[in-house]
Amino acid sequence: MQKTFLIATHNEKKKNELLRILSPLGVDVKTDKELNLTLTEAEENGETFYENALIKAQSGCKESGLPCVADDSGLMVDYLAGAPGVYSARFAGEHGNDKKNNEKLLKLLKDVPESERTARFVSVVCCVFPNGDIISARGECEGKIGYEEIGNGGFGYDPIFMVDGKSFGELSAEEKDKLSHRGKALLQLSEKLKDYMSL
Ligand code: IMP
Repeated sequence: MQKTFLIATHNEKKKNELLRILSPLGVDVKTDKELNLTLTEAEENGETFYENALIKAQSGCKESGLPCVADDSGLMVDYLAGAPGVYSARFAGEHGNDKKNNEKLLKLLKDVPESERTARFVSVVCCVFPNGDIISARGECEGKIGYEEIGNGGFGYDPIFMVDGKSFGELSAEEKDKLSHRGKALLQLSEKLKDYMSL
């Protein structure tokens, strides 16, 4: 079994979350840079988190010849019928502008009472193997959208995503891993990978 896995993400903070959770598995997890590869940016044109995670993992696996792990994630707000969903990274138009995304969301929910501010983070992780095998897992984390940005930690919508009275932006990396959608999805993925690799 190939023990070097490629992680297909250009988001530094997400990459660190993936590394922290997957390295105890005993597999060597590397980014394209660390492998001296430059991956083509796969077009995330899927309609679901699963489709987008699969697009990224399949493309990374094909280009590197290595098992490749990719995640697709986002925030689903009930009041907005599940938006921004797969469009989370470009909600305010510009890809990855966290500040503008948070401002837009807070504005849309300006007069919405707390009871209607329910939301969840969703993460789907896929691992694609050179023989075509696919292992995937999904994690969700329930919370509420706050009224302002709180905390400097994490990334993306973390400063406005509230769980038990605290924003994700106020949590340490370890605290976030325990609660987060990605933490849950990766834990499930690592259990499935353990079984797969012992076959
Ligand atoms: P992706 O890189 O296509 O999966 O985009 C996911 C987007 O969803 C990110 O750019 C963030 O805006 C948001 N997102 C996903 N996971 C998190 C998280 O753990 N905290 C905050 N925002 C997140």
